[in-house]
Amino acid sequence: MKTSLWYPYAQMKTMATPRRVTSAQGVTIELDDGRRLIDGISSWWCIIHGYNHRELNQAAIDQIQQFSHVMLGGLTHAPAERLAEELVRITPEGLNHVFFSDSGSVGMEVAMKMAMQYWFNQGRTEKRRFVSLKRAYHGDTTGVMSISDGEEGMHALLAQALLPQYSIPAPQSMNVQSECCQRSLRALELLFEEKKREIAAFVVEPIMQGAGGFNLYAPEYLIEAQKLCKEHDVLFIFDEVATGFGRTGKLFAAEHAEVTPDIMVLGKGLTAGYFGLAATIATTKVFDAFYDDSPDKAFMHGPTFMGHAVACSVALKGIEVFHRERYLDKIKSIQRHLEGEFLGFSGEGIRETRVLGAMGVIEVEDAKQLKGFSSYAVDSGVWLRPFERYLYTAPAYIMDEASLGKVVRVMKGWFER
Ligand SMILES: *Cc1c(COP(=O)(O)O)cnc(C)c1O
Repeated sequence: MKTSLWYPYAQMKTMATPRRVTSAQGVTIELDDGRRLIDGISSWWCIIHGYNHRELNQAAIDQIQQFSHVMLGGLTHAPAERLAEELVRITPEGLNHVFFSDSGSVGMEVAMKMAMQYWFNQGRTEKRRFVSLKRAYHGDTTGVMSISDGEEGMHALLAQALLPQYSIPAPQSMNVQSECCQRSLRALELLFEEKKREIAAFVVEPIMQGAGGFNLYAPEYLIEAQKLCKEHDVLFIFDEVATGFGRTGKLFAAEHAEVTPDIMVLGKGLTAGYFGLAATIATTKVFDAFYDDSPDKAFMHGPTFMGHAVACSVALKGIEVFHRERYLDKIKSIQRHLEGEFLGFSGEGIRETRVLGAMGVIEVEDAKQLKGFSSYAVDSGVWLRPFERYLYTAPAYIMDEASLGKVVRVMKGWFER
């Protein structure tokens, strides 16, 4: 397709014609040919409240009628201040200072820059490299590409052009005593012992690696890793862009381990698809390394759209709805439903099924097995978009039993044809 619009993650020459959406409501997307699809993946896991949410719409409209945006340089406003306070209140104890930006990738760039300057401000200018996990995905911009998996991941082609960083094998088991968790921790310790002079931070997607294949691992891994970080003077960064706001069954994945990272990043569910907004939240320890009489120690960062008032207003309303509507209970029922359907589901070519919170994945042996799945799903009235070897669902938390049942039937049905 030689269209004006260049589509994401696609070979434009061979890509299938995308389906044109004319409206969306709740968990349903309507196409221009009148077909209605249940969205099983909530638009890359961000539409947690469903589409066209009355209260979120109203929050946006109310704020637009006041003002949409003013620069945060020299000016401030209630939506940004209140959202910062609310995020400090609901995130793990100790995360006290919120820096806003406009997407998950940029929020992670901010985290990396903050971690480097944390050390630079203390004269430790050699501490500038990062350790991440294999299969990690932290976004698409240049800095975070360097900490995303450059071998198995989608940025392999550019790997040699990126900043050199370190990576260790990913833990891939819910049992911290398992061979893979222990191997990963040993690798981390060895790397720290050898290179801690130059390592600024260890970065993970806690408990669940999203775009790396919905890989799940033991919460205790985070406790062990944090001990190693503390021992070796390395910051610990949680990328909760995908896991934040309930996806793993807790409000934040960090809560599974009761670990407070030095820096935590939120995106996706924060505004639930209404606007681009991310939050990079730091502990007092990190903040204090910048807090000084010297302007040289200030954090020199400030996206144009930082703290966008409409985005912040929608995020505040979203958090209110999340609690009032008891989403954690809804997520629990979704998890039970998915566990009942997927755990124990096996068949030719199925490598593993995994469920956590409002996420279920069927991992197959060979990506070719999923070829043609999306069309099959659309013909069955469901929107799902597998990637590589992973056929997954990550529904909006408002999805009812009947719709979820349909999503699951389509996923399993593919293997039972
Ligand atoms: C989606 C995602 C990002 C990138 O967020 P964008 O808003 O797409 O830039 C970063 N980290 C994780 C874990 C993600 O899932």
